[in-house]
Amino acid sequence: MPKKIHILLALLLLPLACSPKSDTEAGKEQAPTTVTVCAMGEVDSRWLTLMGETLQASFKVEWKPGSAMDYPEGAYNASRNQYDAPTILKYIHKNQPPTEGVMVLVEGDLYREGRNYLFGYALMPGNISIMSLARLDGSAFGYQPTDTKTVPRIIKTTVHEFAHNLGLSHCQHDDTCVVSDTLGLKDLDNKQMNFCPTCERWICMVCGMEVEEGRERMRKLFEKYGLVVEFSPLEEN
Ligand SMILES: [Zn+2]
Ligand SMILES: [Zn+2]
Repeated sequence: MPKKIHILLALLLLPLACSPKSDTEAGKEQAPTTVTVCAMGEVDSRWLTLMGETLQASFKVEWKPGSAMDYPEGAYNASRNQYDAPTILKYIHKNQPPTEGVMVLVEGDLYREGRNYLFGYALMPGNISIMSLARLDGSAFGYQPTDTKTVPRIIKTTVHEFAHNLGLSHCQHDDTCVVSDTLGLKDLDNKQMNFCPTCERWICMVCGMEVEEGRERMRKLFEKYGLVVEFSPLEEN
């Protein structure tokens, strides 16, 4: 019997009613220090690089590209033409050392029972997350993919899902915070790429960074991709 996944599954689209945990030690224990980023299906490698660089900038973790994975047996639902996210997560979980993180960009469209589709799906806390390129590039919504739209969506979803891996629930402070629940494509596009001050403080503490350092790292990433992001004024004390 594979080890039972007993931890809470966090859904990008599932509202979770709690604020950031005050127990920061939990995040520290769970936090993977290296994350392997890989594809499931046909995925442009530059998206994997973008995900890796986003993780490195936002959470101060190392990343490495991993070999592409095949879809697990039983994941494809022909009547929906979609892949079952929990089946994929369980399949990855079977072979993944618990101390190392893995983030998988899935070419196809993801769903789970009760949800029409998912942008991403993550263990919370945990070391595994998956994201659907078909949703993030807009093709599953019938849009022609453009980098201008896809780059920020991949950054936002990478940050969002890894924050769940660290144990952070959906943000209840600011509905544009990158960790707030996402209610659709328009909502994802309206979201910020960075954290609200509350989530920012929590993430920086768990990842061992001063807030200023965290911002500087993210600023460099945004600059590299030609994105302009406003940060709120740093709080006193
Ligand atoms: Zn979420
Ligand atoms: Zn927040």
